[in-house]
Amino acid sequence: MYETGLVAPGGAGQARADRPGDLTDRQLLARVASPLARCAGGGADADDWFPVATRWSRARIEAARALALCAKCPVREDCLELSMRQWDGAGHYGVWGGLLEAERAAIRKEWLSGVSVSRLLQARTAEASTPRP
Ligand code: SF4
Repeated sequence: MYETGLVAPGGAGQARADRPGDLTDRQLLARVASPLARCAGGGADADDWFPVATRWSRARIEAARALALCAKCPVREDCLELSMRQWDGAGHYGVWGGLLEAERAAIRKEWLSGVSVSRLLQARTAEASTPRP
């Protein structure tokens, strides 16, 4: 087990024992900076984390490699929670929790009203899989 309290992917007891909203900033940072984070070993260029396009669709293409890592990241919820809490600093910029800056800005009001990052990510997943007319 890592110091983060998480068990390595595939290990026994992989289910989360706690929720990101219950953790301190320090605990969240320990998880996001742990070897469990998909971005920990590289795999994407620095530019992949900071798309410059103003249109979301274009920005998602620019950040595709980073977003692919985030999609399978076991600490994604922790990462998004930390970003929301650090909005006045580093958490505002680039890709966090598999979302672009503009995407996080769009859901931050809901987060501030008490909606958990888990629910916000579930809602986004459902929205993305809904066929458009
Ligand atoms: S969600 Fe993405 S940015 Fe956050 S720790 Fe995981 S891979 Fe890194």
